[in-house]
Amino acid sequence: MVSTQSPRFQPFAGRTMETAAATTKLIFDFSEGSRDMRDLLGGKGANLAEMTRVLGANRVPAGFTVTTDACVGYMQGNGEFPAGLPEELNEALSRLEGRATKRLGDPEDPLLLSVRSGARESMPGMLDTVLNLGLNDRSVEGLARATRNERLAWDSYRRLVQMFGNVCAGVPSEALEQAIADRKRAAGVELDTELSVGELKALVDDFKALFHQTSGQAFPQDPEGQLREAIRAVFDSWMGERAVQYRRIRRIPDDWGTAVNVQQMVFGNRGKDSGTGVAFSRDELTGSPQPSGDFLINAQGEDIVSGARTPSDLSEMKRVLPAAHAELLEILRTLEGHFGDMQDIEFTVEESRLYLLQTRNAKRPAQAAVRFAVDGVAEGLFDRERALMTIEAGALDALLHPMLDPDAEYEPLARGVNASPGAARGQIVFTAGDAVLAAEAGRDVILVRPTTEADDVAGFFAARGILTSEGGKASHAALVARGMGRPCVVGASALDVRLDAREVNVDGTVLHEGDLITIDGSTGIVTADDVSLVEPEVDESFRRVLQWADERRHLGVRANADTPADARKAREFGAAGIGLCRTEHMFMAPQRQPRMRAMIMAGTERERRDALDGLLPLQERDFEGLFSEMSGLPVTIRLFDPPLHEFLPSAEEVARDLERARGERRDDAEELERVLERVHELTEANPMLGTRGVRLGILHPEIYEMQARAIIRAATAVRDRTGEAPLLEIMIPLVAYERELELMRELVERVAGEEATGLEFHVGTMIELPRACVLADRIAVVADFFSFGTNDLTQTTLGFSRDDVEGKFIPAYIERGIIDRAPFETIDAPGVGSLVRIAASAGRRAKPDLTLGICGEQGGDPESIAFFHQVGLDYVSCSPYRVPIARVAAAQAAITSPAHQ
Ligand code: PEP
Ligand code: MG
Repeated sequence: MVSTQSPRFQPFAGRTMETAAATTKLIFDFSEGSRDMRDLLGGKGANLAEMTRVLGANRVPAGFTVTTDACVGYMQGNGEFPAGLPEELNEALSRLEGRATKRLGDPEDPLLLSVRSGARESMPGMLDTVLNLGLNDRSVEGLARATRNERLAWDSYRRLVQMFGNVCAGVPSEALEQAIADRKRAAGVELDTELSVGELKALVDDFKALFHQTSGQAFPQDPEGQLREAIRAVFDSWMGERAVQYRRIRRIPDDWGTAVNVQQMVFGNRGKDSGTGVAFSRDELTGSPQPSGDFLINAQGEDIVSGARTPSDLSEMKRVLPAAHAELLEILRTLEGHFGDMQDIEFTVEESRLYLLQTRNAKRPAQAAVRFAVDGVAEGLFDRERALMTIEAGALDALLHPMLDPDAEYEPLARGVNASPGAARGQIVFTAGDAVLAAEAGRDVILVRPTTEADDVAGFFAARGILTSEGGKASHAALVARGMGRPCVVGASALDVRLDAREVNVDGTVLHEGDLITIDGSTGIVTADDVSLVEPEVDESFRRVLQWADERRHLGVRANADTPADARKAREFGAAGIGLCRTEHMFMAPQRQPRMRAMIMAGTERERRDALDGLLPLQERDFEGLFSEMSGLPVTIRLFDPPLHEFLPSAEEVARDLERARGERRDDAEELERVLERVHELTEANPMLGTRGVRLGILHPEIYEMQARAIIRAATAVRDRTGEAPLLEIMIPLVAYERELELMRELVERVAGEEATGLEFHVGTMIELPRACVLADRIAVVADFFSFGTNDLTQTTLGFSRDDVEGKFIPAYIERGIIDRAPFETIDAPGVGSLVRIAASAGRRAKPDLTLGICGEQGGDPESIAFFHQVGLDYVSCSPYRVPIARVAAAQAAITSPAHQ
């Protein structure tokens, strides 16, 4: 046989690992394996073996699994079967023939085989399969006689030549489909099932001709040769392009390899007492206890998968094959109980006899997952820990936000980065101001911009959702939207947002202000179609799961919240305090902008202090609101962080205004000149590495003084009013040198002394620069707590601009296997994570009671949460809407890795 596969084995070339083949068993009969052998037998093989043990050999057609080790050996051997495999294959085949009491290629009553892939983790549709293997020109006649079903025999043979041709010889699917279409047209029929035996025979000839045309060889008549080629093709498909791409996305390592399952075929297309289907042990959408699924009478499994025929509901099976249906329900219960998880099975009924072909844990939406976890405990299926482990924490997001109606049909207009989950629909507006006006007029709007900036925040409140054409998951729009729970899609680069023309051009489609647009921040989809949304329900089951999670976790969960509304939401979702209040957001309300600008424009310290005096009562009120919501809980207030120029208009904008003012000889021209000059002064080439954070506090201490005073006064007021103050933590951003923190600590203590209210508070720092990490022991001496700012720490460790990279090179990096996760989303454990580890242990060494938290975006990511648990942090802080996810993820981390330092 001519292999059409190019040599694809470079990833393994040069590895000297002694091929496991020479010494290790490379094939296991189903009766020899178990579910614990997933790594070696793949998910499907391990579960087939387990099912054989649990249900008995009569329920699972006999077979064997060629191990993943054999596949790895094959790849290392550049496409040669590893030593020992051919012999083991012969022996396994003999055993199988013995059990099936049929022989492969028997011209009278042949054994037919299915050959299917089965990786450690399921990769649906990515790897190859060959069915009906073992037929040839002679045995097809034998099968017809033995089954007294000529149609079945020839339909099986044409399926074999078609699949084998496609998978093993690379005959293009289009050519094969075309041949079927031509035959159907000539016969004047619409369905494959209407083709006569004569037409099926003709189709076999068509396929053989295509086979010859593609490979230069005749279709192989030797069944054992067919088997070897089919196994080879499944191995090869592991390194096929679509499988490689799929693995990049799902982060599955290339060197796992796939197992191959060889199993006796059973026939669901053997007449009216036969059929095939897929079933879930519970309703796969809601998790309610009734099994659900699809069933097709007189058909083979691939008819369901390929969509060639429309299946009926499982209830139809109860009507036509009641006994098999009853057995199926019984088996679903048994399997669910045995595997301790909701099952998703494939089955076939051959002449009223039910066979199980596959079982696996069912993928299910969050609602079904939560319901199953709670019901499972109530039914004694498992304990609470196991129940928590059956839930995919990240998917819980869907329970907290509106979603696109899953039944709606729509055409995506563009796709961007899914920056903040939930769906939103509304009319397009292009400025924050317009969003505010529209909201006041009661309209639902989506704020559409190339990027957003600090002074767009009022628009975020007003809009239902935010859509930008630039930026990534750590961009301003994404952070603010996530914090507020607003759905947001960023970096939708197909959008050309023309602010001046107030229109968006997407590949020739032009949308104007006021046009309807819908975004899905969970998937990144943007559509101009009118799609309805469905509201999520947070039900009793979810509450119960969260309570179990709280009982089990070590990590505390706080929220990043800047407003009383955020704080309320955070508390509602179970946050144990605020881990980050970004105070700069408080200056963004439009009515505060003039004061803020006056402060920035101030030429002297006196002028600046005057402007700050105006801001002080406003800040005080903000903090009072926040503290009232969080009485008794820790609240970490971070002092001003961003570069000042973020609060000024852009130089181009001012220059344009200035020109107009001069042209019109307006009085404000002089003032605009001053603004322009100041904007130029403040402009920096790399503002994220510029005059921001503690550096502002050092240069302009009066800003931090004002903030510290507002915080102390507000907390005192709440204490005096309610008898309970928040546990105050004042946090200094972007510290690199211990002296910076020391100076700021002195400043805060001085202000507190001046206020003389006796209020207790802590002073600590963000740890978000590599220098701070490696010298954390020095910084710890002057800090009461550390909070890891992993957004900036990722940015400064990797030298990746947090606002740009996701839309630029991260996707290419993931695709090419340079990285397997977006580092602003999931902590880069070996790199950035090492710095966190170093800083945590150095900090604790210097000060054993140092509180350690993390408030970067990764604080809400389940995988990162597992890492922070292992490092032994005290808490994670994330956006209010991720708090429930973090609670469950923290519990899962504690269950899987109990010993945190
Ligand atoms: C961080 O850098 O991780 C952080 C939380 O602060 P910000 O995102 O505001 O810079
Ligand atoms: Mg930061």
